[in-house]
Amino acid sequence: MAKEELECSFCGRKKPETNLLIAGLDAHICDRCIEQAHGIVIEESKQSDSSDLSAELKLRKPIQIKEFLDEYIIGQNDTKKVMSVAVYNHYKRLLQKPSGDDIEIQKSNIIMVGQTGTGKTLIAKTIAKMLNVPLAIVDATVLTEAGYVGEDVESILTRLLQAADYNLEKAEKGIVFIDEIDKIARKSDNPSITRDVSGEGVQQALLKLLEGTVVNVPPKGGRKHPDQKFIEVNTENILFIAGGAFDGIDRVISKRLNMQAVGYSASMSDDGVDHSNLLQYIIPKDLKDFGLIPEIIGRLPVLTHMNPLDEKTLRAILTEPKNAIIKQYKKLFLMDDIEFSITDGALDFIVNKAVEYKLGARGLRSLCEEILTDAMFDLPSSDEKKLNVTKPYAEDKLTKTTLKKLKAVS
Ligand code: ADP
Repeated sequence: MAKEELECSFCGRKKPETNLLIAGLDAHICDRCIEQAHGIVIEESKQSDSSDLSAELKLRKPIQIKEFLDEYIIGQNDTKKVMSVAVYNHYKRLLQKPSGDDIEIQKSNIIMVGQTGTGKTLIAKTIAKMLNVPLAIVDATVLTEAGYVGEDVESILTRLLQAADYNLEKAEKGIVFIDEIDKIARKSDNPSITRDVSGEGVQQALLKLLEGTVVNVPPKGGRKHPDQKFIEVNTENILFIAGGAFDGIDRVISKRLNMQAVGYSASMSDDGVDHSNLLQYIIPKDLKDFGLIPEIIGRLPVLTHMNPLDEKTLRAILTEPKNAIIKQYKKLFLMDDIEFSITDGALDFIVNKAVEYKLGARGLRSLCEEILTDAMFDLPSSDEKKLNVTKPYAEDKLTKTTLKKLKAVS
């Protein structure tokens, strides 16, 4: 009996007509059918990605977005509200169908001003988590103009592509968080003729990313791989969130407020201004006076501020967020069947030390780590199944030297 000729079980091509025929259990598939099937898979996953996003937005209106943020971020209510609206509008814009009415909804890129450690990155991360979109966190201080030592602004998009596992479709709907945007401010308000490598040039280069354009992106990043092929990334639907401490901007705000007060009612002794938190009065002009160019400010139309963290907030950060530090330690100890508890006195003590040594929210973690390292080292191999951390216990573990050490690294 003549040996039956093998053929593709999908398209029926005989083996000699194919480049490759792969055998399955009791079927075969040719190279062409594999490619076609691959195309279908990609197409399907694209559709489900955007329907994921639209389902997410149907489910979460701005109020629900804020409720989600509330689970992870303590306080910062103004910012959470502003961000919820901006994010909602951004993704609504992205899902809009062409309507032919010439009304183009513009991007709502965001700029957050607030001291370091007040939760700017945390907000960006939480939003990306909620929407299940890729997030790239980049530091503006490493960016330089093309031709200088450092990274080109395009490297921002390389990071986003990496965060999206090189899925271009996903990357183009992602979020970029640019930290320390204040560090690329013009050094003096006076545009100088000498070139300002780390300042204005970088702002200019960033502009085109922010406004929405197609950028040639080296997939592996910058200058070490000169012969790689570029990927074209369209930034039109990427949400940019910039953050910065803008040290000294309170003086700019204060000066402006004083001038206004003089203009209107010079005799008013109490100006009704909360001088302990001037950032809440920030307006775009203050950013310009600080050294951001007007075009950049225009491309970051949503301006919001972070409040400094007071003792009450720090205390809440320790225990309340969904993944609060104390909850994490409880879980870690429980894995060794150890019941971990901590008294209010000990929690207050940790917060006091964080404030006294100006360690901020980031310091809370290091303080807990110092206090609990001995227990985490010894208890898993002992018979002790309970740990109750009291204030004297915490005091005993936190010596002046360790505190100084923490201060030095913070
Ligand atoms: P920033 O980006 O403003 O410098 P981060 O977002 O990196 O600050 O905050 C540092 C850490 O401090 C976060 O990982 C988080 O654990 C904690 N943190 C800061 N602010 C808050 C907050 N408002 N609510 C909950 N945790 C916070």
